[in-house]
Amino acid sequence: MVYETGNRTIDEAVRRVLDGERLDRRDGLALIAQPVEELAAAADYVRSHFGDGTVDACSIVNAKAGNCAEDCGFCAQSAHFDTGIDDYGFLDPEEILEAAKRAERDGAQRFGIVVAEKGVSKEKRPKEWEEVIRAIRLVRDETDVEVDASLGILTEEEAEILADEGLNHYNHNVETSPNYFPEIVDTHSFEDRVHTLEVAKEAGMDLCAGVILGMGESPTDRVDAAVALQDVGVSSLPVNILNPVAGTPLAEDLSGSADITTEEIIETIAVYRLLHPEARVRLTGGREVNLDADQQHLPFEAGADGMLTGDYLTTEGQSPGDDIEIVERAGLEPNTEANDFDPEAVKERTADDDAAVDTAAGTATEVQTDD
Ligand code: SF4
Repeated sequence: MVYETGNRTIDEAVRRVLDGERLDRRDGLALIAQPVEELAAAADYVRSHFGDGTVDACSIVNAKAGNCAEDCGFCAQSAHFDTGIDDYGFLDPEEILEAAKRAERDGAQRFGIVVAEKGVSKEKRPKEWEEVIRAIRLVRDETDVEVDASLGILTEEEAEILADEGLNHYNHNVETSPNYFPEIVDTHSFEDRVHTLEVAKEAGMDLCAGVILGMGESPTDRVDAAVALQDVGVSSLPVNILNPVAGTPLAEDLSGSADITTEEIIETIAVYRLLHPEARVRLTGGREVNLDADQQHLPFEAGADGMLTGDYLTTEGQSPGDDIEIVERAGLEPNTEANDFDPEAVKERTADDDAAVDTAAGTATEVQTDD
């Protein structure tokens, strides 16, 4: 079947993608300049060709929070910035298992153990390393979700141990383009991040690596980040949209709002789908604050087929039931491959939870919304 919008740049790109060709930087730059509606329709077509009509949900736990020695300008967990977040050491692995079970019950297909750290070091912090391994084993053995982790920079030995322990996926975002990265982070380099992805892949783990949009980068940077991720070969491409946290340099530089329009979010997602036809392009942090409630399904009509559900590392997400409704509004279904959950039951239960929180909010000045 031939796909035709009448836009030659887009039609030719789609034809080549369907033929199994990998689009390059020049293609990406040409595509991102095309009309957003045509791009979105083409990306939706490519998603339906390569995908199975489902949206995959993952969930994360902030297993070690704050006090990180790195200075990523978007991050509330850096010790360089005064953001007032709670910091704590590595959680009890049993607590992490409970979080994984909750995520599984809410429809997550994979569960990520995330630490705020340049790297969990087996050599420098052997006790913490053992706890990380214990947590991976517990989630691996006692749930059906796939296990993911985001532990910062890895050595080859560490990557091999993690892969042998059954860690299916490794997350390490590149955040932005190689050129723009030094504007955001001083304490480590883009190459450091890519090296860890290569080490994780070499050890046999699938890669989950993506970006944060709206940090002041240009459309060219957005394309360059996706091209860098083609080179490392990712199976999951998380797309965060900056949710500026007071106290971070980016919140100050951008006066508290992400530097991106809705149209740019949609066109970037669509171009990412065309550059990564077989990856899960995954909407993650910041989608609720940067897209209105009636716009949140639009990325899923423009090639996205994954999402992070539940809370983020330092900010709250929306309820899993609301996320399922967004997926259904886009004409797609939640993925149930690893965790055969009932979407209707999740919607009902989380609607009840939301109602309970609303009721509690009437009598309390501060509501704890963590499950
Ligand atoms: S993004 Fe990661 S490495 Fe950078 S400051 Fe935050 S926790 Fe540390």
